Amino acid sequence: MQARAALLNEPDQPFTIAPVEIDTPEPDEILVRIAAVGICHTDMIFATGAMGNAFPLILGHEGAGTVEAIGSEVTKAAPGDKVLLTFASCGHCRQCASHNPAYCDEFTALNFAAVRADGTSPVHAGGRQVSARFFGQSSFSSHAIANERNIVVLPGDADLAALAPLGCGIQTGVGGVLRSLGAEPGSTLVVMGGGAVGLSAVLGGVLADCATIILIEPRAGRRELGLALGAHHVIDPGVADTAAAVRALVPSGVNYVFDTSGSTAALAAAIGMLAPRGTLGMVGIPGALDAVLPLPIVAAITYGFTVRGIIEGDSDPGVFLPELVALFRKGRLPYDRFVRYYPFEQINRAFQDSRSGACVKAVLLLDAAASTS
Ligand SMILES: [Zn+2]
Ligand SMILES: [Zn+2]
Repeated sequence: MQARAALLNEPDQPFTIAPVEIDTPEPDEILVRIAAVGICHTDMIFATGAMGNAFPLILGHEGAGTVEAIGSEVTKAAPGDKVLLTFASCGHCRQCASHNPAYCDEFTALNFAAVRADGTSPVHAGGRQVSARFFGQSSFSSHAIANERNIVVLPGDADLAALAPLGCGIQTGVGGVLRSLGAEPGSTLVVMGGGAVGLSAVLGGVLADCATIILIEPRAGRRELGLALGAHHVIDPGVADTAAAVRALVPSGVNYVFDTSGSTAALAAAIGMLAPRGTLGMVGIPGALDAVLPLPIVAAITYGFTVRGIIEGDSDPGVFLPELVALFRKGRLPYDRFVRYYPFEQINRAFQDSRSGACVKAVLLLDAAASTS
């Protein structure tokens, strides 16, 4: 069938919306008509070509849509079902078996390679193969191919545009605090960076009933947003020694620091914010992919610090995404306050606004009626 996709023909070039051919789903595949898809920081990293993907490439990994067709082995969803797309996992390795699919042995191959394990792709354009299995979906497209492992079936009355960003960014922030760090009621939390993931971590801190939530963020507008969403204090890293500023608020240090900045200077300061037995959780990808963490070893031993990397907020999507959907519907997860919608045709504008910081969380809306399905 023919679909309409935002193609990246070369690294660091604008997207071109163009017709593509999508194959009939393989036995284990699901064809989804995309209604909405969020833009996440990872899309921007892969758009540069730094991850070595073959181009042309279709990005997009926060899709939400309606199942249009299923392969012969699929039982989890049927045509007409509304679904949320999320990251892919193998379902049979040790991590998947212990409900930690974000650390699946095959995570890199299934999510980053953007092609099937055998090197093929279900999408072609102009006689060329298009890399279109990014995060098991490549949902910057009117239609995407997913698998049972990376879809969650939604209630029939679900608002797809509202729920789309749950698939990566929001679950990373909320899950990072609730699941990865396991913040308990009364604990203290610093969130570094007030982008979509950081603000979601603030929301996670509210849900965890943290006694003190501090957001460190350079943009005044985002600091205000952080306070409106439940942060108790905000710090501008441009005018303050952040570790000293945190200790002025919580003299013994905080139990948890959640870093979305990936800045080695910010991470060095984060160590100075931790209380004894405190944990630093890292989700921010540094600009230099080979950057190393400046960790004072004696302090780390003396105070029993834990440092851990976090992927997708340790989400087990089949369990965690329905929880987040329910929280959103009850008004307890108001991430919609930092979402801005763009027509699919304005994807380049949406990327520009995401890069510049003019927009916190961009979500693209696809006009299904205009697609050529
Ligand atoms: Zn696995
Ligand atoms: Zn993402």
